[in-house]
Amino acid sequence: MSTKTSETTDQEIVGKNSIIPNYIGGQWVHSEATNQLHVANPATGDQLGQVPLSTPKDVGAAVESAERAFPAWRQTPAVERARVLFRLRALLDEYADELAVSLTREHGKTRSESRGEIQRGIENVEHACGIPSLMMGESLEDIAPGIDCETIRQPLGVFAVITPYNFPVMIPLWFWPYAVATGNTVVLKPSEQDPLTHQRIVDLAAEAGLPPGVLNVVHGDQATVSALLEHPDIKGISFVGSSEVAKIVYAHAAAHGKRVQALGGAKNHMIVMPDAKYDRVAQAINDSVFGSAGQRCLAGSVVVGVEDAFEPIRDKILERAAGLRLGYGLDEDVDMGPVISARHRERVRNYIGQGVEEGGTLLLDGRDARVESYPQGHWVGPTVFEDVKPESAIGRDEIFGPVAALTHAKSLDEAVELMQRSQYGNATSIFTTSGRAAREFRYKAGISMIGVNIGVAAPMAFFPFGGSRGSFYGDLKAQGRDAIEFYTDKHVVISRW
Ligand code: NAD
Repeated sequence: MSTKTSETTDQEIVGKNSIIPNYIGGQWVHSEATNQLHVANPATGDQLGQVPLSTPKDVGAAVESAERAFPAWRQTPAVERARVLFRLRALLDEYADELAVSLTREHGKTRSESRGEIQRGIENVEHACGIPSLMMGESLEDIAPGIDCETIRQPLGVFAVITPYNFPVMIPLWFWPYAVATGNTVVLKPSEQDPLTHQRIVDLAAEAGLPPGVLNVVHGDQATVSALLEHPDIKGISFVGSSEVAKIVYAHAAAHGKRVQALGGAKNHMIVMPDAKYDRVAQAINDSVFGSAGQRCLAGSVVVGVEDAFEPIRDKILERAAGLRLGYGLDEDVDMGPVISARHRERVRNYIGQGVEEGGTLLLDGRDARVESYPQGHWVGPTVFEDVKPESAIGRDEIFGPVAALTHAKSLDEAVELMQRSQYGNATSIFTTSGRAAREFRYKAGISMIGVNIGVAAPMAFFPFGGSRGSFYGDLKAQGRDAIEFYTDKHVVISRW
């Protein structure tokens, strides 16, 4: 258990009763909302501010501002748009440590996890800096005698970006830098649970030269999102969140004529073959399952030991999990922070209880975890189950907490079959020293993000990020070339002179 060593309290950082402003037309403005939600530090319980539940009128003002900014921004040459992003990249690098502290305060992840998240965000800004090349079209002479054909990519107008709480810096940066690099304008609706750090990034974007109205922010929850999905002047929606909401957003936005990419939840299987190097594998699996207190869409959740792999991998995972130090992410020597809220902690605890009721064997129980210096924190300790049935709640549902569900399979085929019973298909990993087993797994898995001897199969900015089956609604994913496809329309010009 850690001791309190962070010098400043949260109240010194932001006024605890202050209402978090929206950002419209280059100005921080107050929402019309009469209702607010509290934003609190999940480790200390200190209030950080209040998030307004912005109204359709607020959304209308943000969209109008984005619409107004669009023609001039579209006409700004791609190299100049890229220069703004180059400057933003430098500023993000310069302020990365300050941003990491703010991120840990509002989310709870450790300082090094926050720093890692910011780095992943920066990499997306870097990738978007290549927009003059990325946005090029194609051409072919003489598609018929004397006739040439070319495609040009054009921005569409205003996009909305709606993001979850678990990566409040990185996930907005999966989207809006590409949307603005391609010449569109944006309304961002961050998670209402931890909206503060991105406010600072919006200021840095303005400092980098992003013109007023190109990026706007409205805070809120479900009703604010509905106003965005229904707004006639929004051309497309980039969404990340739980599968339940992703499915609703996908259908709702499509019904209003928009293009949509909606990334959902996960139940990631980690398959350990008997020829794997158990020590290294156990470390990779523990980092995957317990990193960020299990609140990652790429977190390992079900660990499948194939044949003789089960017992040794179980014992090593258990030993490491029991040694993890829980605490406030800004303190020294902390491995795992709290979960985001008291409500979420109850949800995770209930799943653990249900796991026991449904016949799982609880080897390590994190329900009663405490951190003495922070009695108000939303603590859940590392939890490990074995004998988990795939149809039980802890074998089936996304828990989004530090819970490992261990099970065994007689063969790789059986492990794959077990994994494919899941409604989700976000990520999976195999651990093996056999190239043949790895290839077979890759061929059959049917899951979009695959790790081979990697516990967190996170595609970097220049590759697409997104799952399959119930983990993803849409066709074009986040990041990579897909981002350019999503935010542009291809126009074909056929010419004869
Ligand atoms: P969430 O679905 O509760 O919220 C996501 C966003 O949707 C928020 O901005 C929220 O305000 C809004 N929202 C919530 N309910 C809504 C509704 N009924 N209608 C319209 N909008 C609504 O998700 P969360 O708890 O913030 O984030 C965790 C989830 O996100 C997990 O399921 C996790 O797996 C998923 N996630 C997925 C990826 C991925 O790449 N697939 C990445 C990160 C997180």
